[in-house]
Amino acid sequence: MSVLSDYAKRTPGSKEHFARVGAMIPAGATRSLNSWPPYPVYLDRGAGGTVWDVDGNAYRDFLANYTALPLGYADPDVTAAIREQLPHGTSHSFSRALEAELAELVVARVPSLERVRFTGSGTEAVMFALRLARAHTGRPLVAKAEGGYHGTTDDVMISVRPPADLAGDVRSPASVPEMRGIPASRTRETLVVPFNDVAASQEILRAHADRLAALVLEPVLGVGGMIPATAEYLTAMRATCDELGILLVFDEVITLRLAYGGAQQAYGVTPDLTTMGKIIGGGLPIGAYGGRADIMGLLEPRGGTDVYDSRSGGPALYQGGTFTGNALSLAAGIVTLGKLDAATIDALNRTGDLLRRELTGVFAAAAVDAVVTGVGSLFNIHVGPRRVEVFRDVRAVDAARQHAFFLGLLNHGVIVAPRGMGCVTTCTTGDDVAAFTAAVRLTLHDITEAG
Ligand code: PMP
Repeated sequence: MSVLSDYAKRTPGSKEHFARVGAMIPAGATRSLNSWPPYPVYLDRGAGGTVWDVDGNAYRDFLANYTALPLGYADPDVTAAIREQLPHGTSHSFSRALEAELAELVVARVPSLERVRFTGSGTEAVMFALRLARAHTGRPLVAKAEGGYHGTTDDVMISVRPPADLAGDVRSPASVPEMRGIPASRTRETLVVPFNDVAASQEILRAHADRLAALVLEPVLGVGGMIPATAEYLTAMRATCDELGILLVFDEVITLRLAYGGAQQAYGVTPDLTTMGKIIGGGLPIGAYGGRADIMGLLEPRGGTDVYDSRSGGPALYQGGTFTGNALSLAAGIVTLGKLDAATIDALNRTGDLLRRELTGVFAAAAVDAVVTGVGSLFNIHVGPRRVEVFRDVRAVDAARQHAFFLGLLNHGVIVAPRGMGCVTTCTTGDDVAAFTAAVRLTLHDITEAG
């Protein structure tokens, strides 16, 4: 049976829902990634490592809300902590004491954090961190990596264009806005460097050094294909930023789960500022940014009336966000981080290692070119390329086959992202890994047959 007809047979309820919701919500989904042809699957509920769609199909979920749920769905301890907060109000006008507890947890774990501020999302965390970097250095530009994903503000939605032959020379990438509506002029304020290419990145940073406030990097390119940085690259970027007076920002929204103190601890490279999100909110909306006390000190103005900085007389740097620091996100985050001790993180990473090993074996014997990237509990399956070592390699993905693979996996009861991203959680068992591997093998067969 073909992938598409099997999909249609299993998901009539989702099809019907798509017709209803598509009349109101463009593409039938608020998160654009959650809409795909011919129509998306709509979920009903989740528990542990399993979710069920509106048709009652069960799926082993290897995406866990894009890596945000390291304990899987509806962890009993997280659920109890949320329930405990509920009768006392969900968000409040003034700060809750709970904020200190989550701050203590992250500051104790992450090497670069002397001070921290919470935000409503990872996107906001990056936005505030880059603004802070500009305020601290007095410089107007920021730099990011090709394929780096840092949320959806104009600042960071700049990369090289597909396909690879339009991306330009690595020493002068042909950067473009990644979305409509972002002025092309933003490419002059956000520079792009080739991830993992020390010499070319240094050359670009040096050429603009006196105007560059920050270099923001994911220690592992996440949405860009789960490509780990080499230790050499991060070490060299740390040294180059020091030499040029550029602040180094690590975006650990995804990678915080890789080690007790995040990827920066695993790599032994300490940035000036760090952005976080996802796991620190235990499944509820959150973000955070923090780092050196002297830089974070720029956020000291107090109160809504203090919009001018008493030292400089210029505008102060202050932060808003109605739901930031809400009681439910804090409570869920505190319990989640408490459960993610070093041994638990090690176990997660070992499960991820096993999964990638198994998949590598499957791909070696497959008729279709495919490869798995990633590290620790994170992975990405790319259909089309034979190797993915730098972001430009991801452009070799066979988009039609990758999509057929995604739908085929759904047919076999497994969820990864449409572009192949995934992760394991504390709910992922050996049985799940075996089932996943079997589903991948079957799906590769299905998509080969479909041509
Ligand atoms: N940075 C990175 C590295 C991310 O992966 C993401 C989200 N996938 C973000 C920032 C944005 O976070 P949020 O979706 O919470 O705004």
